[in-house]
Amino acid sequence: MEEIRTGRGCRWPMWPHASRPTHEYCGQRKAGGSSYCEQHKTMSIRDFETEPRQPFVPNKQAA
Ligand SMILES: [Zn+2]
Repeated sequence: MEEIRTGRGCRWPMWPHASRPTHEYCGQRKAGGSSYCEQHKTMSIRDFETEPRQPFVPNKQAA
């Protein structure tokens, strides 16, 4: 159920940004209709628009 996923605040992972090994989520109050707070909701949307969608390429060459 949605309550399980969203019941503990913003789900934005903090460790890639804070360089901390602690696996903590943002945990701030979520924006409506999002699993993230207002700030991270915006970030997630921007990333989605900025980065072109990469189709899965099964024949991708191994380095
Ligand atoms: Zn957040």
